[in-house]
Amino acid sequence: MLNRIIEIIGESKKGLRELSDALWKNPETAYKEFFAASEAAAFLEKRGFSVTKPYCDIETAFRCEFDNGPGPVFAIAAEYDALPEIGHGCGHNLICTAGLAAFLATAQIMKEKEIKGKVILLGTPAEEGGGGKVFMAERGALEGVEGVIMVHPSAKNTPDMGSTANIGLEVIFHGKCAHAAAYPEKGINALDAVNLLFTGVNTYRQYVPEHVRFHGVILEGGTVPNVIPDRARCRFYLRSADEKWAPIIEQRFRDIVKGAELMTGATAEIAPFRPAYRARKPNCTMNHAYIEYMEAQGAAIFIPKRAGRGSSDFGNFSQLVPGIHAYFAVAEKSEPTGHSQEFAEAAGKDFAFENAMRAAAAQANVACRFITDPKFRQAVKDDFKKGSKAY
Ligand SMILES: [Zn+2]
Ligand SMILES: [Zn+2]
Repeated sequence: MLNRIIEIIGESKKGLRELSDALWKNPETAYKEFFAASEAAAFLEKRGFSVTKPYCDIETAFRCEFDNGPGPVFAIAAEYDALPEIGHGCGHNLICTAGLAAFLATAQIMKEKEIKGKVILLGTPAEEGGGGKVFMAERGALEGVEGVIMVHPSAKNTPDMGSTANIGLEVIFHGKCAHAAAYPEKGINALDAVNLLFTGVNTYRQYVPEHVRFHGVILEGGTVPNVIPDRARCRFYLRSADEKWAPIIEQRFRDIVKGAELMTGATAEIAPFRPAYRARKPNCTMNHAYIEYMEAQGAAIFIPKRAGRGSSDFGNFSQLVPGIHAYFAVAEKSEPTGHSQEFAEAAGKDFAFENAMRAAAAQANVACRFITDPKFRQAVKDDFKKGSKAY
C-alpha cells in the first residue's frame, strides 16, 4: 500500500511544492491565515473536493472530507500559522502540505480499493498561541472521529513522545504613582510586585519535578525612573508534562501573586491570555506504525528518551480521540531547533519538502491501516483507554 501512496503523492508533488512555497513566502500569524486557508481550500476544490470554510465559527479553519460509506472515521490535522517576526520558524507550511498530501492519498486509496469509511482533513489555525484546536474540539470538530494524526517538522524524525500541558497567565499589578525621590512614601510600586513575583517563581523552581517549566516576560513596567510605576504587566507559561501538576503549580503561582500584593500593597488581576493547552497523550500502536512507514522510506529515526517539553493544542485533540503528533526532520544534518531563523530557512528548502512528503505518506498509511485493519484499530483504542507508554 505504501508504494501506491507514494505514487499518488508523487502525482501531485508539483502543486504541493508550490503550495508549501507560497505559504512559506507569505507567513501569517494566528487567526490571520486567510491566504493559507484559501490556498489549501482551492487546492482541494481543484481536485474535486468540497471544503467547509469557515468552520467551527473560525474564519481561517476548514474541513474537507471524503466519505465512502459507513465505516471507520479518521482525521488528519493541518496547521498553517506562522510566528511573529520569524515567519515559518515552526515550519507549519510543511504541516499543511503534508496534511493535504496525506488526505489526497488516503481518499484515493479508499476509492481505488472501495474501502468503506471516512477520512477528514481539518485545517486547524492558530496553534502558536491562539489555541485553534482547543476551540475546534469544544465546537465538535472531532465528533464521530475515532483516530487523528498530525506530523510536525523538527530536528529529527521521531515518534510522538508527548508534550506538556501549558497554562498562560497574565498578571497586571496596580499601584500608585508618586515622585520616586520627593515623595516615595506616597507611592505603591507595581513593578516591585512583578519583580517579587519573578523571585517567588524562581524560588519555587527548586521544589517541582523536572518536567515542570515556568517562564515569564515583563510587558509593562513603568515609563521613567523618577515616577513610581502604578501599573506593571507580565505573562507566564506554566507547563507540566504530568497533568496532575497543572493545578498544583497554578495554585502556587496564584499564591505567589498574593504574596507580592501583600509585600507591596499593589493589587493584582490574573487572567489567562490564551486557552490552556493540555498535555499530549501519545499512542504507542500508532507511533510504531508511523515509524515503521518512515523507516520503510529510508528515513533515519531517533527515539527520544523523554516527553517533549514544548506544548501544542494538539494535546486537546489527543485527550479526546486516540492520536499522534509525530515528527519529521526539516534538514538532513544541521538539526535546527524550532522557532529559530535557521529553522525558518530550512522549512523552505528541498530536503524539508521531500521529507514532509515522506511523513505525509506515513500519515496516509496510518490512516488507511486504521480504516482497513480492525485489529490495528482496536489496539489504538486500547492504548488510548489504558494510557499506553509513548513508544
Ligand atoms: Zn511552534
Ligand atoms: Zn509548531
